[in-house]
Amino acid sequence: MGGLNSKQRQYIVDSFGSRASFNKTERKLYGHDIAEMPSLIKRLIGSTIPDVVVQPESEAELVELVKWATDQRLPLTPRGKASSGYGGVLPLKKGIVVDFYRMKNVIQIDKDEQTATVEPGITWEKLDRELQRHGLTLRLYPSSYPSATAGGWLAQGGCGFGSYEAGWFRDNVISARVVMPDGAIREFTGAELDFISDAEGITGLISQLTVRVMPLDEMEVIALGCPDAGSLQNLVQILVDNKLPIWSLSFIGPRMAELKNEAPLREHLGHVVEERVLLPAAYIITLAFRKKDRHSVADGLAELARGCEGEVLSDRIAQHEWQERFKLMLVKRLGPSLVPIEFVVPLSALANVMAEIALKVRQPVIREGIVIREGVDGKPEVTVLGFIPGDQRKFGYNLVFSLSLTIMNITQKHGGRPYSTGIYFTHKLPAVLGAERARKLKAFKRQVDPRGIMNPGKVTASGLVSILTNLVSKLEPIFRPLGNYVSTRIGERPSKAVRDIPPDVVWYAYGCSQCGYCIDECDQFYGRGWESQSPRGKWYWLREFMEGREKWDQFMVDTILVCTTCELCNLRCSASLPIEPSWMKLRGQLVNDEKRMTIPPFEMMAASVRKEGDIWGAYRKDRSVWFPKEMEEKHGPSRKAKIAYFAGCTASHVEHDIAIATVRLLDAAGVDFKYLKEKDNCCGTPMLVCGKWDVFEEIMRLNIQNMKEAGVDTVVTSCPACDMMWRQYYPVWTEKLGIDYNITAKHYSEILAEKIKAREFTFPDTGTNTSVTLHDSCHIGRVSSVYDAPRELIKAIPGVNLVEMEYNREWAHCCGSVLTLIKEPPVAAVLGKSRMDEAIDAGVEKILAMCPCCQFQFRVTAEKKQLTIETVDLARFAASFLGYEFPDPNPEVQRQWAVFEAMIALMTPEGFADLMGAMWPELIDAMPFRMGGMMRAMGRIPGALQLMKPLLPILFPRLLPMMIPKVMPVMLERVEQRMPMPDYMLEQMPDLMPEVVKNLMPHMIGDVVPLVTQPMINHLEGK
Ligand SMILES: Cc1cc2nc3c(=O)[nH]c(=O)nc-3n(C[C@H](O)[C@H](O)[C@H](O)COP(=O)(O)OP(=O)(O)OC[C@H]3O[C@@H](n4cnc5c(N)ncnc54)[C@H](O)[C@@H]3O)c2cc1C
Ligand code: SF4
Ligand code: SF4
Repeated sequence: MGGLNSKQRQYIVDSFGSRASFNKTERKLYGHDIAEMPSLIKRLIGSTIPDVVVQPESEAELVELVKWATDQRLPLTPRGKASSGYGGVLPLKKGIVVDFYRMKNVIQIDKDEQTATVEPGITWEKLDRELQRHGLTLRLYPSSYPSATAGGWLAQGGCGFGSYEAGWFRDNVISARVVMPDGAIREFTGAELDFISDAEGITGLISQLTVRVMPLDEMEVIALGCPDAGSLQNLVQILVDNKLPIWSLSFIGPRMAELKNEAPLREHLGHVVEERVLLPAAYIITLAFRKKDRHSVADGLAELARGCEGEVLSDRIAQHEWQERFKLMLVKRLGPSLVPIEFVVPLSALANVMAEIALKVRQPVIREGIVIREGVDGKPEVTVLGFIPGDQRKFGYNLVFSLSLTIMNITQKHGGRPYSTGIYFTHKLPAVLGAERARKLKAFKRQVDPRGIMNPGKVTASGLVSILTNLVSKLEPIFRPLGNYVSTRIGERPSKAVRDIPPDVVWYAYGCSQCGYCIDECDQFYGRGWESQSPRGKWYWLREFMEGREKWDQFMVDTILVCTTCELCNLRCSASLPIEPSWMKLRGQLVNDEKRMTIPPFEMMAASVRKEGDIWGAYRKDRSVWFPKEMEEKHGPSRKAKIAYFAGCTASHVEHDIAIATVRLLDAAGVDFKYLKEKDNCCGTPMLVCGKWDVFEEIMRLNIQNMKEAGVDTVVTSCPACDMMWRQYYPVWTEKLGIDYNITAKHYSEILAEKIKAREFTFPDTGTNTSVTLHDSCHIGRVSSVYDAPRELIKAIPGVNLVEMEYNREWAHCCGSVLTLIKEPPVAAVLGKSRMDEAIDAGVEKILAMCPCCQFQFRVTAEKKQLTIETVDLARFAASFLGYEFPDPNPEVQRQWAVFEAMIALMTPEGFADLMGAMWPELIDAMPFRMGGMMRAMGRIPGALQLMKPLLPILFPRLLPMMIPKVMPVMLERVEQRMPMPDYMLEQMPDLMPEVVKNLMPHMIGDVVPLVTQPMINHLEGK
């Protein structure tokens, strides 16, 4: 690792434990921001991989860290969500990246004073959510609201939505607590905030800030269209002059409008699921104002607009532009890269600036802007964010980049300035901050940080990048024709696979803007807290891989596999990227095509599925033990019904109440259905998500064949994952494989909701009075949008009060199950608890859930985290009002979990090493070519085996495949001692285990050998 010595490393480990990362891949992901640097600048900067990333949890920890780092002369680089693009978060001198992710508490909300005091790592979205509970909201926020942090915006400085009324962010900050480079805590207020705002963390680490907020009022929006920049400038000036009580005024340029019309819409499993709202190729202004001010703003607006050749646009456009206001990066997918240019100009110069840009820059410049009614000199200012589409993979991107300096020169000529400094414009600091403020900031930096450890190389420093940009901007007339000469293509155009990454995934990886919106709500991320586990981190890593700087290892394969497939990221993505489907593609490629190791217990499930059709190691003959005997005739396999109930593995073998209750409800509602009993099977979801696609295909074919043979055209499920297969995946796969499908899938709740609506089914009034909440399962919610039917079912039960959790329907959080539970049980418990806490906060008695796996996960979590809230299956809950009683699934869940927990521990290098350690005599006997005897003899010669030790990593992988079959009987005995299996599973182990070991050993042997070599030598030497 180089940068830190062993003592320093130890200090970090002792202080931060798992909240520090030395992992090279991880560190790389904390060494960049959103900017796509041209290759020439990248080379100039060199590596920005920090030596370590730490995640402090408190101000006290920050103080200790800063004191120690100053003493050790180790640079500190603060990082919020890295959604800035000026290089402020780049650890130019390596050292320590301080990630504020875990310092995100709201400390105080003062409704009377209308202030909020927060830790720096909170995002604007989360703070706003919290404020709204108190009847307050933000006075302003950046358009990176879903990801940007409070501390990051104060340090970076800027304006955003609401700035028309509220001005620059700095003017809305009351105070900031800062850990200074000497470790002292200092509070900054008033004019002193100039030392912190726009300083990008070079003067200290912000540990707390208090901001002004405002009462929550209902807002309305109106969109206006202007044919050109002159019309835009005139209209905005008139709105200012007329003192209209507008809260926010933002606009987009004609090119942006055109590209938005072309940008891909959000898709789901190949279908477009968003409506396109066509925009006119004009400057489109979006005004937001309080509802109570409607008359003052709206009356006469059309006339004002007409006076400037503008017009009021449709409400549909206004609503669409407002709802999509955070998604400005959508157009990046057409690049797939964007050269950014951000500047501030007086409103009075806007038209002239735009005209000169149009004259000098021949590339398409996409624009959007925010108007500040009272800028730094009290006059209206406009912040313009421009983009030129390009492709960072091509050399021409360097040339197009130089055009951003052309634009900056034009801006400054008209009295404008760059938006920020970072590493690119340190030479323009006096222009950005004003000469006096710049001078004071430099003096303050020298005074408080003489050792230069706080975010070195930024803002006041004079770095190579700034020197280069200064030079290029001076030589701009020479570079301009080159930049203009580059031919720019616009539009999504995946062409070829790169290092086996499928073409569309290649394009998405570069299309990702790195905005970070997907991070905090990704459960794979928030269960662990590290960037590699987020979609953003994975896209960045894929770029590095495709450019040859990374290669697959088990850590990265696992990061693709442990995504829970919750699909929340698809909704959050500012570029509408199909994120989860991309990981799904990679699962198949990595495990199925390239034969990399999947999450080990899935090998056991695969063997069990192949043998008996279920993932639980149970017998097919026991699959239908739950099926009520008295239903045999009416709903058994011989019934000639077109509808079949498909129970799936977990309801069949573990949580029987789900299956029993479902058939009771369907029966009571008069549904003519049958149940195929032993011909029911695993649906294949576990095999699909673990990448064992050959097994998935076998299962799918069998399931479809069984249903066809039974004359079924509609499959009814209780399990959302089964539903997902029959409704979404089987149609896509059968089409791909040319299999006739023609089967409809329905969830039982949908059938019952239809019956309830048609008044064909009702629940009796049992005099109950209870409050429940509903956990939306990802696999039927976000996957198939089944939200209303289960709610209709609950609402139809007299005396039951349904209370929604804070995150519900399409925004519902995942339970954290299957892949997480199987790979990292402690992480699953964190995720499960976070979801169950939402239910507890809702003040209900029970969480109703549909998915057997969610229920399993909640029950395991409740046991681990000692939570008392009860999890109940929705069908069971509903059917109990019909007078039925059901077996308690909890004991079986805990029993099965004990098996799985032991299996998870066993199927690790440590687990296998432990297993081998328990059978040395048999393993040595099993060595081929009489090597066992030879090894024993060498064990008796002192030091002989130590000489042979280096050969063992080479020999073992060759010998083991020959040894394993011979030791299988004893291995099974030892496995049994370690895994408390039910009888049926134990009986099947001789069939399942060899397959599992055969598939896993080749992948694990490299990690197992170092663990077993010395113990084996010890054994042979009789120690
Ligand atoms: C889609 C999109 C839209 C955007 N819209 C806007 C906009 O409307 N207005 C706007 O101004 N910007 C905008 N930005 C830029 C960026 O989001 C903002 O600058 C944002 O405030 C940065 O917040 P962050 O948490 O990501 O900070 P980071 O990018 O992580 O950090 C920014 C700077 O602050 C420093 N820093 C971070 N935390 C601390 C701390 N606790 N103490 C000391 N220093 C710290 C970092 O070292 C860095 O120099 C946008 C970006 C994107 C991707
Ligand atoms: S599907 Fe869920 S877990 Fe997977 S990357 Fe997206 S948000 Fe994260
Ligand atoms: S995946 Fe989407 S939301 Fe996440 S960083 Fe990329 S563009 Fe932003």
